[in-house]
Amino acid sequence: MLKLKKGDTVKITIGKDKGRTGVIEKVLPKEAKIIVPGVNMYKKHVKSMGETKGGIYDIPRPLSLGKIALVCPKCKKITRVGFKFVGKAMPAGRQEKVRICRKCGKEIDTK
Ligand SMILES: [Zn+2]
Repeated sequence: MLKLKKGDTVKITIGKDKGRTGVIEKVLPKEAKIIVPGVNMYKKHVKSMGETKGGIYDIPRPLSLGKIALVCPKCKKITRVGFKFVGKAMPAGRQEKVRICRKCGKEIDTK
């Protein structure tokens, strides 16, 4: 299971976009990569096809998870993701796994 989700804020730690932050638009679990709009862009030449207009498009290239770090929405620091279980552990109770910030210990997912 990937520790990052769509909507997470991340900071780029390696490469030409180092230091930039963005919000995850898409997670590619098989490749262990994410897409952040505006980061790691490249120009793609597209031919006209049907409704699609040809031209040069800026397309975000997927970033590997090793090049980014999660920014905690609570403490605004770069952090690693931890997990904890919430809810009742009793029979018939339902436990939920939530992501927490390892720096401040707060839950990352806001509901
Ligand atoms: Zn935090």
